[in-house]
Amino acid sequence: MDYAVEINDITKRYGKITALDGVSFSVDKGEMFGVIGPDGAGKSTLYKILATLLQPDSGSAKICGLDTVKHYSEIRTKIGYMPERFSLYQDLTVSENLRFFASLFGVSVKDNYDLIAPIFSQLEKFPNRKAGALSGGMKQKLALSCALIHRPEILLLDEPTTGVDAVSRSEFWDMLSTLREKGITILVSTSYMDEATRCERIVMINRGKILDINTPANLIAEIGENLYNAVADDMFRLLNRLRKIPEVIDCYTFGATLHVVAGKAFDPFKTVKQLEDEGIRNVKIYPAKGDIEDLFIKLTRNEEP
Ligand code: ADP
Repeated sequence: MDYAVEINDITKRYGKITALDGVSFSVDKGEMFGVIGPDGAGKSTLYKILATLLQPDSGSAKICGLDTVKHYSEIRTKIGYMPERFSLYQDLTVSENLRFFASLFGVSVKDNYDLIAPIFSQLEKFPNRKAGALSGGMKQKLALSCALIHRPEILLLDEPTTGVDAVSRSEFWDMLSTLREKGITILVSTSYMDEATRCERIVMINRGKILDINTPANLIAEIGENLYNAVADDMFRLLNRLRKIPEVIDCYTFGATLHVVAGKAFDPFKTVKQLEDEGIRNVKIYPAKGDIEDLFIKLTRNEEP
């Protein structure tokens, strides 16, 4: 199989901190692949290794079959990297930033404009505005345009939507889908669990270790059936009380409700009656549909010592 990205048993330490601990996975050509994990999981370290900016302590990675240490300069023409913090020159204008990134790769903006046109069109109205004066959503569009201007085969996007408003986040994911349709492989990291479902496959990573790799639908199916929503007038009391019930494996706040993960012996009707008898008013417990966030909570719970 011809992989776009192949990661083989990578470990990376910063002093005593193990940022990546034996990480292996591969990404197919043309795939939209998500890297999901909380802050400090090791996502940026992984991106820096793939972008040839950092070397692993052990293990290896390949991009389009090329080793990230031995063939770093060839790899740099094949990837478009958008680091976690905006890579733009804040004092250069919109068009100067774009021309600068094009010149780094020896291409002209005109040659590859067709690829970025749907993204860049919204910035064409103010070509002379300094990048530092753009809104978060506009900066993100300019950074993506700059990462694409040399027509890379693989986009490495490290938390591209962090700190961006919800509308721009959704627009950004629409843009990624269009790029994916053009055959570009996309490796995108996020700590927003709702974005994970827009990927074809995702790797879940926490404290430098892979927890699971699968399609979002399969991952959600793994949660199992015993998940309930619970609400009552006094949510705090409900949470504390549910956590003391032996059949309850876990209970946590989930939006406006609680999610209850329960063993087979859990009886929601009996529990509602019991809690109301104890004086908790308007208790409702009903089956919940799990999502990626529930899975993440489950996986990190299983991993705790
Ligand atoms: P993420 O991108 O998922 O937030 P990072 O790869 O940035 O994770 O960080 C993984 C771990 O490595 C964290 O514990 C972080 O504090 C640590 N770390 C990252 N970069 C450095 C560095 N340059 N020096 C020391 N520790 C670092």
